[in-house]
Amino acid sequence: MQAGWRIGYLFGVPLFLDYSWLIILLLATYINSQDYQEWGLFLAWGAGFVIAILLFGAVFLHELGHSLVAISKGIKVKSITLFLFGGVAAIEQEFRTPVEALQVAIAGPLVSLVLFFLLGLTSLLLPTSSLVSELTNRVAEINLVLAVFNMIPGLPLDGGQVLKAVVWKITGSRFAGVRWAAKTGQGLGLLGITFGLILVLARNMSGFWIALIGCFAVRNARIYHRINDLQEVLIRIKVVEIMTQDFRVVDANLTLSQFVDKYFSKSSKFSTYFAASEGRYLGSVSVNAIRFIERSYWDTQTLRMIICPLNQMITVLEKASLLEVIKSMESDQQKQITVLSPAGTVAGIVDKGDIVRGIARYLKLNISEAEIKRIKTEGSYPPGMNLGAIAKATY
Ligand SMILES: [Zn+2]
Repeated sequence: MQAGWRIGYLFGVPLFLDYSWLIILLLATYINSQDYQEWGLFLAWGAGFVIAILLFGAVFLHELGHSLVAISKGIKVKSITLFLFGGVAAIEQEFRTPVEALQVAIAGPLVSLVLFFLLGLTSLLLPTSSLVSELTNRVAEINLVLAVFNMIPGLPLDGGQVLKAVVWKITGSRFAGVRWAAKTGQGLGLLGITFGLILVLARNMSGFWIALIGCFAVRNARIYHRINDLQEVLIRIKVVEIMTQDFRVVDANLTLSQFVDKYFSKSSKFSTYFAASEGRYLGSVSVNAIRFIERSYWDTQTLRMIICPLNQMITVLEKASLLEVIKSMESDQQKQITVLSPAGTVAGIVDKGDIVRGIARYLKLNISEAEIKRIKTEGSYPPGMNLGAIAKATY
């Protein structure tokens, strides 16, 4: 959601304006100016423009409410983006508890509600039907709409976050919470589209907006759903279910020439070798290191020279979840990780291709073996499945 202009930092959080903001600024100026035509063209457009800017101020303060509560809970806020229908405070991590999620979700609407009351009171003190009191009144209304609209109980709206937190608290499962809130969001979005289109057919053009917001809600709910599913399987799948045995165990006492002759001259399908001696795994063979050893040593030196010992390798146990594997791959910049049995022997190896294949099988996604091969060689996740970032945000 970070396409847009960066307009500054606030409490260390970068603030973005989405490109759609300009369109909305023009539109909001136009719509608001229509109500003040009796004041003449200049004042009417001026008032429209001021209200449009204050609308963004209101959205901004609303997002700031979420962000500050999140920051106070020690949760990192990646950015705040103001866009077409409001704002998004991108929270980098998932909440640890439902109570925390609830507090952050409710902070935004609460800010809007407080602003509504403050501005409402202020307008009472101002002389009635003056331009300033009109504007104050209008902005107070905008804040009320922001508070109420955002409390509609479907993700991505704040009300959806609240619903998520409540279901999470009741069921004890965050995933169940997101699933419920995303489903309601999708349902409400579809309802909005239908209702909006009916209004448009009845020649009420505000229906267009309702339908557009509905589309936006459906799209976002889908994204929530997808990320939620991915997070859930990352925790549920154990590495033992998806690892492969695409490696070969060789005798650590082979000389380098013997190793090369035996395993390299033929078109070997293995790229990973583990060396063992007397039934014990010693470590992985650093195949690439052979090239750097002078040929005259090849007949006398054994593989022991180029073994990376097991205890120095980055390994996971069979019962580790995919989440642990991905986090370990990301933090140690590994393309492949060795899986150990409880007895400390090599049980398998796993790379990004194996992870994606495992997830696809679990979620019944259609990912071709050619794509898995590409992931294996390039070592990058497919577009739209940024597992590194998703894992980082998952507890
Ligand atoms: Zn909000």
